[in-house]
Amino acid sequence: MNSPKMLSHFIDGEPQAPASGRWLDDVNPATGEVHALIARGDAEDVDRAAAAAKAALRGPWSQWTAERRAELLEQIAAGIEARIDEFAEAESQDQGKPVSLARRMDIPRAIQNFRFFASALRAESLGAHPTLGVLNYTARRPLGVVGLITPWNLPLYLLTWKTAPALAMGNTVVAKPSELTPWTASLLAEVIQAAGAPRGVFNLVHGLGAEVGQALVEHPDVVGLSFTGGTVTGRRLAATAAPMLKKLSLELGGKNATLVFADADFDQAVEGACRAAFLNQGEICLCGSRILVERPIYDRFVAALTEKVKALRVGDPADPTTDLGALISQEHRAKVEGYLRLAVEEGGTILCGGERPNLPAPHDAGAFLTPALVSGLAPTCRTATEEIFGPVATIHPFDTEDEAITLNNLTRYGLSASIWTEGLRRAHRVAEALDVGLVWVNTWMLRDLRVPFGGVKDSGVGREGGAHSFEFFSEAKNICVKL
Ligand code: NAD
Repeated sequence: MNSPKMLSHFIDGEPQAPASGRWLDDVNPATGEVHALIARGDAEDVDRAAAAAKAALRGPWSQWTAERRAELLEQIAAGIEARIDEFAEAESQDQGKPVSLARRMDIPRAIQNFRFFASALRAESLGAHPTLGVLNYTARRPLGVVGLITPWNLPLYLLTWKTAPALAMGNTVVAKPSELTPWTASLLAEVIQAAGAPRGVFNLVHGLGAEVGQALVEHPDVVGLSFTGGTVTGRRLAATAAPMLKKLSLELGGKNATLVFADADFDQAVEGACRAAFLNQGEICLCGSRILVERPIYDRFVAALTEKVKALRVGDPADPTTDLGALISQEHRAKVEGYLRLAVEEGGTILCGGERPNLPAPHDAGAFLTPALVSGLAPTCRTATEEIFGPVATIHPFDTEDEAITLNNLTRYGLSASIWTEGLRRAHRVAEALDVGLVWVNTWMLRDLRVPFGGVKDSGVGREGGAHSFEFFSEAKNICVKL
């Protein structure tokens, strides 16, 4: 066997070993094999990274024009694109997702994040408010050293969604990816350096949330934190960072509904509900894991969806015909299975799935689970309202539009929803009434990077995307000139 890859920190323009000398295992969840060792960072490493980022703020980077930064972002996009297969393989091996999905969605989207923010930077214009004899205008400056903390489900996609606007606005970065999926972040650090970023502009510290994440949140030189992850972690982060008056962006959990009305295009709605529930093994914050169906079509919909879910192929992430790969870990699979036991205790019927598939070696040791659809549950029960973040969806009937809205709004989360109807007025009416940050009508997860992205209630605080990201990663300054 080859010796495992060593994923070092990347600080001040070069790979650096952890100060502690300790390393963590990076496990391929589809096989259980340790395929890399990850630097186990601590407060000392965070301190080195923050010092490098702070020094870089005062270096040549501060003299770079917006045009030059836009060119850097394009170089980074090209650098990822040139290694797209390597990135897709790494993402799949770290996360468990099908290589085909990483190749089609995660990595192209990461490339697009850099291209999009390069164009947005070039197109940016700031306000001016002239009156007789006085000119007020707005200038922007970077926040400074920003901390980017990201989860394991869409590792590169979400890290680049923050890195691109942070660099576009002239900040310097200390990134902390999930300890479960560190590999593509290390590849990204190489690409950013090769693209010509000055040393210290992008720094990466690997390790555990409680050790590296917490130290980053507490570090006095890190003035802004952009976090995507679970609600419990987000709350803890805010408790530390808010009294330090750090700027915070929190993209947190979700338990999103798919609302299907009787007048929907039936086949499209079945297809859409299936995709929304189970893409990426159901491990996307936007997944539609509560499917609400208007009573007249409920039985037919349940039957058609069950057939579709049963037809999804679970297995080898490298096989191009695979729909669902492995869950992120054995521990996470056990958590998801615990929810399926709870569903039965709560009176639910598992219509399909929820089983460990029989796969040949080496995937017999992987964290696979067949996608599960559960009916017969009260929409208020724990299974139907808590975030499971795996291949489990519950399905519930409703009788009126008002009831559908109430059911959507009763969870503590408020990230997204999709509405399936051919009724134009209904679509707008229901969309307005849902307590969420994002609504799709007759589609799901169709993204335009200019639009505000984020949730309400326990799904987070703040918005990312286009001008919203630029606003977060900069300070606006008003300059008033008496002419
Ligand atoms: P998590 O909260 O456990 O971890 C997220 C990141 O925070 C990781 O890098 C982790 O190491 C770090 N972390 C953990 N403890 C920390 C601490 N005390 N201080 C600072 N950092 C710490 O989440 P996860 O399990 O990696 O990801 C799944 C969650 O992410 C789900 O709840 C999902 O809904 C959410 N998510 C939200 C969005 C969104 O855009 N709203 C997108 C993707 C995922």
